[in-house]
Amino acid sequence: MATEVFKFGGSSVGSLERIQHVAELIKEKKREIDNLVVVVSAMQGKTDELLNMAKFFTEIPDERETDLLLSSGERISSSLLAIALDSIGCRAVSMTGRQVGMQTDDAHTRARIRSIKTDKIRKNLQEGKVAVVAGFQGIDENGDVTTLGRGGSDTSAVALAAALRADRCIIYTDVAGVYTADPRIVKKASIIKNISYDEMMELASLGAKVLQIRSVEMAERYNVIIVVKSTFEPTLPGTIITKEGKMENRAVSGVTGDKNQAKITILEVPDKLGIAAAIFKRLSEKKIIVDMIVQNVSDKGMTDISFTVPADEIIAAKQVIEPVCNELNVKAIKTDKDVAKVSVVGVGMRNHYGVASDMFEVLSQEGINIAVITTSEIKISCLIEERYFELALRALHNKFMGG
Ligand code: ASP
Ligand code: MG
Repeated sequence: MATEVFKFGGSSVGSLERIQHVAELIKEKKREIDNLVVVVSAMQGKTDELLNMAKFFTEIPDERETDLLLSSGERISSSLLAIALDSIGCRAVSMTGRQVGMQTDDAHTRARIRSIKTDKIRKNLQEGKVAVVAGFQGIDENGDVTTLGRGGSDTSAVALAAALRADRCIIYTDVAGVYTADPRIVKKASIIKNISYDEMMELASLGAKVLQIRSVEMAERYNVIIVVKSTFEPTLPGTIITKEGKMENRAVSGVTGDKNQAKITILEVPDKLGIAAAIFKRLSEKKIIVDMIVQNVSDKGMTDISFTVPADEIIAAKQVIEPVCNELNVKAIKTDKDVAKVSVVGVGMRNHYGVASDMFEVLSQEGINIAVITTSEIKISCLIEERYFELALRALHNKFMGG
């Protein structure tokens, strides 16, 4: 018996006409799928609209109340879709997070799923109905409504696919899959046919906003096959995300980047034991995420340390480290917001030589200087001047993806 979970994002259910279109697509697919669960996001813009309503009263609305408010967005889209399905002769039943047994912890607005009680949903499926589930929400031990963080419907869908041991989880969205680069910047970007969980997580953390990262982590843990597809062109194959991806004979699967970076350089830090620990501890205490770090070879007992933080945290980061730096008598703290990170990602790097040198060569040919470099087993990132961001992405794509 085939079991599948579909998820439709906010733009796919963004209007009544679109909901109608989605209903027709589901009705057709249901012919081949015995057990079909459909998870929906709120209609496009709805979650922001609700959040802004709360902010009319206070900048920081109570999180428990916010969760109940925001969860209503998905209730609207799921019930409308069930009505649309019924009206075209496809039996369906909408279910809230509570009805679907989505148990979470009590971390309101960013709750984590603990378990799913699937008996109710299974009963509906056995009766031949399509279960239309309101994504993004669950309930905690007290029975209070929780939400899973922005973009959380992806995680609802993957969690349900894991709990029901579904054959796959299809994420229907407004793009035709995961691209080799941002198609708005790199015109020749194309859809990646197969990609591994690890690559997808790197791409997602680097700014590819197709999936909530947590959903990919969960898919990896429970071995859920994810397919990303277009709601509007559903016959296109899309991108398949699995454990291995598929080894094509290329080193790099995608090129990506992040403009939202800022660099801090501390000049002439005494090169003594525990200094880096002292500085970075201050940042972690303030929950500031440090991404790239480089420390130079010391010269006469002094060294320079550079690192990057999200651009909007640069002032906070500088303030936090200033007292330690003063104690250490460093020469200066310099900040630079006009930087960007460009990265190449691919599991193929494990078996290919020379990816790093090719990357540096491409950048130097374009006259782009590299400020900081970091690498992992499947990723190489370079920090460059922000004004070269687009140029760098195009040149790297041209080199590694051939176009
Ligand atoms: N509606 C929620 C949001 O906008 C959840 C989702 O769309 O996945 O973040
Ligand atoms: Mg989304």
